[in-house]
Amino acid sequence: MELYGEMHEEIRNSVREFVRRKLMPISSKIDAEDHFPVELFREMGRLGFLGITVPEQYGGSGMDYISQAIIEEELGYASASFALSYGAHSNLCLDSLWRNGNQKQREEYVPRLCSGEWIGSLGLTEPTSGSDALAMKTEAKKVDNGYVIKGSKTLITNAPYADLVLTYARTGSGFTPFVVLSDDRGFSRGNKFTKMGMRGSPTGELFFDSIFLPSDRIVGKENEGRNVILGGLNSERVILSFIFLGIAKRALELSLSYASSRTQSGQPIERFELIQEKLSYMYTRYRSSRFLCEDALRRVTADRMDGLSAASAILYTAESAEYIAREAIQIHGGYGYIRDFEVERLLRDAILGQIGAGTTEIRKHIVARELSKRFSENGRIPE
Ligand SMILES: Cc1cc2nc3c(=O)[nH]c(=O)nc-3n(C[C@H](O)[C@H](O)[C@H](O)COP(=O)(O)OP(=O)(O)OC[C@H]3O[C@@H](n4cnc5c(N)ncnc54)[C@H](O)[C@@H]3O)c2cc1C
Repeated sequence: MELYGEMHEEIRNSVREFVRRKLMPISSKIDAEDHFPVELFREMGRLGFLGITVPEQYGGSGMDYISQAIIEEELGYASASFALSYGAHSNLCLDSLWRNGNQKQREEYVPRLCSGEWIGSLGLTEPTSGSDALAMKTEAKKVDNGYVIKGSKTLITNAPYADLVLTYARTGSGFTPFVVLSDDRGFSRGNKFTKMGMRGSPTGELFFDSIFLPSDRIVGKENEGRNVILGGLNSERVILSFIFLGIAKRALELSLSYASSRTQSGQPIERFELIQEKLSYMYTRYRSSRFLCEDALRRVTADRMDGLSAASAILYTAESAEYIAREAIQIHGGYGYIRDFEVERLLRDAILGQIGAGTTEIRKHIVARELSKRFSENGRIPE
């Protein structure tokens, strides 16, 4: 069955128009100056892109993960760092908040995140717990009428700008997501990190110094945050994999165009068999990534707990994007190593694909574990 309907093609056209007019012209500046174009980000709210998966009654556009993935791919093609900030706000924070939040949170916070008035983050990683996220130390202790949260988060996308952080904390026997607001007493931010790639997407630390949170700041039910984390991570893996598909597409296009115009030894370099070999592998890995991503997107839309397709899609796509961007540099020769040529940025941005949303190693672990489990259940490789 065709994944993309008429509504999705309309979304793709309108994002492409936004990208062509507003994002492409500043994508080098975003990287060179580590510049987060906050007003452009807010404009995405006015265009309905930020709350794309949120029902209209809460200020969103009432669409689906397929639309969100389309937006990620188109943004990722032009500026992966802008796409990363979009993903952290729109998928990791906002989508999870409206799905799991109570009525007050849906009415008070969700519309502000949809419109772009507020910027959102998801706070899971801590200084001593990354891959082993459930070893978090941030703790929320029950007091009269609420909780007191103490701890810190690090490597958080959008942290330097975040008005609202969907934050996970240890509570008694389990984990609970909470809404923390930037004007809560005891909230502070660390410095913005300087990164090798994804520059312009602001990343930083958050500190919670005994912040009092009323009980209605819990997202979902107390101690039941584990499934919120896992369901969120699956959808995050699928949606973010489209950023890396966008990078791969851009790197391949730039390579095809350069290989046809650059001549050496009296002919375009695209006629050399070793360059043809590169282009053929780049294309094959790009197309295979697309099939995996679109298949995972269909599955996660139907069942957010399908970890196998989500992990395998981002595992392969992130590795492929890095491979394709590296080969793109090689095809560009010395110019590929020069900052004025976009391909070196594509490689620096692509590397994040193997780290964020769970590392390559963790994805391999998930794929192998799920595969063995399902095979032992019915003796078949899962289709
Ligand atoms: C630009 C950027 C943006 C980010 N945005 C966010 C965000 O918005 N919110 C958020 O919560 N986090 C965010 N992160 C954090 C990211 O999710 C973590 O960096 C990632 O999960 C890895 O954790 P770690 O850095 O602590 O590495 P570690 O977990 O310390 O891993 C170090 C190495 O050991 C390997 N390793 C660890 N455990 C195992 C294992 N069991 N088996 C095999 N190998 C293992 C890892 O794969 C890795 O190679 C961001 C990170 C970056 C760089």
